[in-house]
Amino acid sequence: MLRLRGGGELVIPFPDIEKEDAVKVHEFDPRAPDYRRIRKGMYYAAYCYNPACAAGRKADCVAVPAGFGIFNLQKCLDKVFCPACHQKVKPYSVGWHYCDYQVSTQKPGAEAKKGKWHQAGDKDHRFDNKEAGEAEFVVAIIEVVPYQEGGKEKLNTVAKEQPNQTPIEENKEADQEEHKSSHNPQPAPRKAKKKHCTIL
Ligand SMILES: [Zn+2]
Repeated sequence: MLRLRGGGELVIPFPDIEKEDAVKVHEFDPRAPDYRRIRKGMYYAAYCYNPACAAGRKADCVAVPAGFGIFNLQKCLDKVFCPACHQKVKPYSVGWHYCDYQVSTQKPGAEAKKGKWHQAGDKDHRFDNKEAGEAEFVVAIIEVVPYQEGGKEKLNTVAKEQPNQTPIEENKEADQEEHKSSHNPQPAPRKAKKKHCTIL
């Protein structure tokens, strides 16, 4: 997946994630197989080709939940494993569910770009490769945080006015715990929703 350019820069080919409008919203499909089940946060879309795998036998698309954090795609794309057979798969796209995310990129020979914060709601928000087209990146980083009412952009504005702001790092752990605990059968409606978190 990675290649070296003349100048010694690591370049990754990927859908052009600078085209932020190329993210399309899809409904979940309750009949889709378990290996396309996603959780809150980011996920990778990939094909598995392992003949000994339930997905790979059909050269089927799998969804690999990645959750929350700062994902440097130059490192992360090489560490994605099929949820059915745990063999390495090569992601061809990314998607998000119930989270806020920001894409930072740099194409070879171009200026570094920091995208806006976007909000993915309670559906499958997936990058549309056809609309975006392919691109090459020397930097491709996606930051993903738990869904914030009103969006992260708005929250940032408020936080800057507070002198004793809690560092983001500390919040992150708490958010992950909250995320894990949502697996427990707490509120019934949320559990019912999770059942359908299977992408098409
Ligand atoms: Zn597999």
